[in-house]
Amino acid sequence: MAILPIVQWPDPRLSSAAGPADVDALQSVIADMFETMYAAKGRGLAGPQVGEMSRVFVMDCGWKDGEREPRAMLNPVIIAVERTPVVMEEGCLSIPGVLVPVSRPVAVTVQWTDDTGQIHMDDFDGFEARCIQHEMDHLAGMVTFDRIAPELRAELEGPYLDAVT
Ligand code: ZN
Repeated sequence: MAILPIVQWPDPRLSSAAGPADVDALQSVIADMFETMYAAKGRGLAGPQVGEMSRVFVMDCGWKDGEREPRAMLNPVIIAVERTPVVMEEGCLSIPGVLVPVSRPVAVTVQWTDDTGQIHMDDFDGFEARCIQHEMDHLAGMVTFDRIAPELRAELEGPYLDAVT
């Protein structure tokens, strides 16, 4: 396993949609993504964030408060959403130091393939629903800045870009 470099905003890979994920081809990348996520003290990491442009992400929402529960999702699809919107501040390993208040549905039903090739469908709410939607945005080529009003984006992204470019 290896810790991979994390792609940082505004790298164009973070604005590009990922392609279909192949479970066999991704085994070692998924192991590296878990190692990278835990080393960076993150709760989720999507393929494009390490330059892997396929529809895969890893997550573990509760590991900072208890046992590790690593979960990999390949080719995830949102089947249904509970539309009640909730605003929560989201960090992102690709946009270090910036918290962005993003409005998202409070709960989602997701179908995905796990890292052994098994297909699952389940309901998620709370922080897990939030994390899944954030990571799925990465697979579609979106970041938190793409989810907020232009004025707020300018306020939050401007100083970030000044610092990194
Ligand atoms: Zn992110």
